[in-house]
Amino acid sequence: MNSLPSALEFRGVTKGFRLPNSTDTRIAINDVNFNVRNGEFVAIVGPSGCGKSTILNMTAGLYQPTAGEVYVSGEQVTSPNSHVGFMLQKDLLLPWRTIVGNVEFGLEARGMGKADRREVALSELKRCHLEDFANHYPYQLSGGMRQRAALARTLAIDPAIVLLDEPFSALDAQTKLLLQQNFGETIMQSGVTTLLITHDLSEAVFMADRILVLSERPATVIEEIVVDLPTRGNLMERRKSPKASEYIGRLFELLKLESRAI
Ligand code: ADP
Ligand code: MG
Repeated sequence: MNSLPSALEFRGVTKGFRLPNSTDTRIAINDVNFNVRNGEFVAIVGPSGCGKSTILNMTAGLYQPTAGEVYVSGEQVTSPNSHVGFMLQKDLLLPWRTIVGNVEFGLEARGMGKADRREVALSELKRCHLEDFANHYPYQLSGGMRQRAALARTLAIDPAIVLLDEPFSALDAQTKLLLQQNFGETIMQSGVTTLLITHDLSEAVFMADRILVLSERPATVIEEIVVDLPTRGNLMERRKSPKASEYIGRLFELLKLESRAI
């Protein structure tokens, strides 16, 4: 039998937040159960405000469950943990450090020696096609390049799982498409387990092995869709598949996008 623990497991997880100036709580997510296998790419979609970011914050150990348990690589998450690479919409690169200096940052924090961390950082930059920009500063790069640098920094620490919270939502449509392709390839090549939150349904279909669909808040998993398309990591190929549009249609239905009021 498979003895390796899942990269990530949510077991009956509920999270409530205390409302300001009140003793009432708001339940953000309710009895959420799912698994992410090692090397798998899972996307999470759901209505705005349903609790998607809460799930990522709990994976990173920034919030603790009100009930249930979260496990990363078989270990219960009870505090912020360094096995998780977290990437947000904003790249959060340090403006006073060069690109390679930014990629080295997490390695430095772990006490890796200077020569070693430079080597790791440069090889990550190469994988993200940014080796020529190693000595540039963040302000000298385009938005898309900065996101790639942020991915290189995230991968450099060799995380058990990478969390992406709407990483492309601040970019223009074409940059977004190119970056989805670029991230898809890089992640596939590195083999890292990935959890992507997105409100872009086609992005979920083009990038993921599996999609978890959440309900309105309090979020619970209403459906899991296995994306049975070849060529993960090759978004341009996936876009051509008629089956891809069927999956997108199914997500539309599940999220009731035709009938939902705005
Ligand atoms: P999503 O990412 O799906 O848009 P979030 O996970 O950010 O949604 O939020 C889900 C719900 O939990 C929202 O109602 C939000 O107001 C609430 N929430 C999230 N974080 C906090 C917090 N730190 N304190 C209080 N309420 C929060
Ligand atoms: Mg969010």
